[in-house]
Amino acid sequence: MTVKALPFSKEDLEKIAATHPTPFHIYDEKGIRDYARKFLSAFSWNPGFVEYYAIKAAPNPYLMKILKEEGFGIDCSSLAELELAARVGLKGDEIMFTSNDTPAEEFLRARELGAIINLDDLSHLAFLEEHAGMPDTICFRYNPGKLKEGNVIIGHPEEAKYGLTREQMFDAYRIARDKGVKRFGIHTMVASNELDPLYFVETAEILFRMILEVRDRLGIVIEFANLGGGIGIPYRPEQKPVDLEVMSDGIRKLYREIIEANGLGGLRLNFEAGRAITGPYGFLVAKVLHIKDTYKKFAGLDACMVNLMRPALYGAYHHITVAGKESVPLSETYDVTGSLCENNDKFAIDRALPVLERGDLVVIHDTGAHGHAMGFNYNGKLKSAELLLRENGEVVQIRRAETIEDYFATLDFGGLQNFRV
Ligand SMILES: *Cc1c(COP(=O)(O)O)cnc(C)c1O
Repeated sequence: MTVKALPFSKEDLEKIAATHPTPFHIYDEKGIRDYARKFLSAFSWNPGFVEYYAIKAAPNPYLMKILKEEGFGIDCSSLAELELAARVGLKGDEIMFTSNDTPAEEFLRARELGAIINLDDLSHLAFLEEHAGMPDTICFRYNPGKLKEGNVIIGHPEEAKYGLTREQMFDAYRIARDKGVKRFGIHTMVASNELDPLYFVETAEILFRMILEVRDRLGIVIEFANLGGGIGIPYRPEQKPVDLEVMSDGIRKLYREIIEANGLGGLRLNFEAGRAITGPYGFLVAKVLHIKDTYKKFAGLDACMVNLMRPALYGAYHHITVAGKESVPLSETYDVTGSLCENNDKFAIDRALPVLERGDLVVIHDTGAHGHAMGFNYNGKLKSAELLLRENGEVVQIRRAETIEDYFATLDFGGLQNFRV
């Protein structure tokens, strides 16, 4: 299968592009809401379940407001993300602050907002106390290290910069309790873009066993377990989304066997997924600017890796649909490029596509997470607008495109801008 569905037709897109110049990212509100509901309903068996949307995936107030309406919290890891949370009206335990290498000012702001602070290191406990005071609630990020060695899916957590070792976790809870902390959480995140639902069941088991051990060794009852993000999405048309029911059922069984059977039944579960929540419901729309035929065929777009850097950065696959040519045979092979002076500025390499012409509208799929958000300004290229396709079919601009003036705003020409040649 080589088809991936779009929530709009070629005619819709032409109409949108008439008032909103390409390139732009467009998000499908209905897709986001439907998935958000499905996600929460899969875990409705766990009272107090919260999904904290990892706002770094698509930091836009409109999207956050939609998710807030659906009952999501927000997962932040920087000052700007905390500020965004505050400005969309989230506070207290609606905010999870999962940072690393954290500056003091960020801990301070997280404390002001009453966010749940998830510490990445044992040494951060004293640092937090010194700069922002000790909160009543603390969560620690667990790095299970070699515990899962041999599982090719997990990779090598011991190489990762994140989290506390197994032994440090026990010290951390003990020291935190001695400092007056009353409520405790545990977190782990050791994978990204994982499509196997059983992977998350294994993650839950690691956390559940740790919770039991902390209770048995220290008498401390951990009240919430944050299973992190990393839920994958089917970037390729032949891939399948993570089966939420399989994942939830597996976790529920372990919850009964390890948590409830040991009298720990109040445990609340959390996720901080980003990609799975908005990723499939965002699209980068661009226009074919040039067709070039040299040693290979190149289709040059009016977008570049500033608008979506995953293909260039990780060689990531993003499916491409040419609007109006959905049923045309894929008879040509193109490198689909942007305009940066970087040869890796390619959205696709050797991609089978219908014959392209200048002016064709090209839709790059699955850009709703880690898409616009990862953009940068190399070569003086500007970040695009973001649009929202409302459930009623209306299209609203939810972020304007950057302008040359934005780009120059941080520069100082020392009066030179007054000279004109
Ligand atoms: C990036 C990140 C997430 C979200 O990851 P997704 O792959 O988008 O689900 C969640 N938590 C932490 C700590 C992260 O760094």
